[in-house]
Amino acid sequence: MDSAGAIGLPELMIILPWLVGLGIAILVGRDANSRGMNGVAWGIGVALLCIVFLPIYLIVRKPLGGAPSAGLPVQVSTEQNRAVSAGPTVTTEQASFCPSCGNRLTTGARFCARCGAQIPTT
Ligand SMILES: [Zn+2]
Repeated sequence: MDSAGAIGLPELMIILPWLVGLGIAILVGRDANSRGMNGVAWGIGVALLCIVFLPIYLIVRKPLGGAPSAGLPVQVSTEQNRAVSAGPTVTTEQASFCPSCGNRLTTGARFCARCGAQIPTT
């Protein structure tokens, strides 16, 4: 009982990989949270099966600010779809109005149908 309480080499060989895995799991959990993913689930998965979940996480994780080219087009396309679906048809066909009398002009009209004023082409 000379080494009671002290951590020997065998114990260290078991604890050290767990500590490393736990540290990686915490890093993965925080990283997943910053990417809008389930950080708790990924952290637990990496802590339990680091060999399996760490490569999977590195593959499926969403791109962060470092690579905006991969993430931006998706956001732009969704905003465009939302604007087209939500907006009324009047705004999409670019209705123009007569500068003289305010009459609404048909698309591509060069003269006002009400007062006959010439419409300046833009
Ligand atoms: Zn007019």
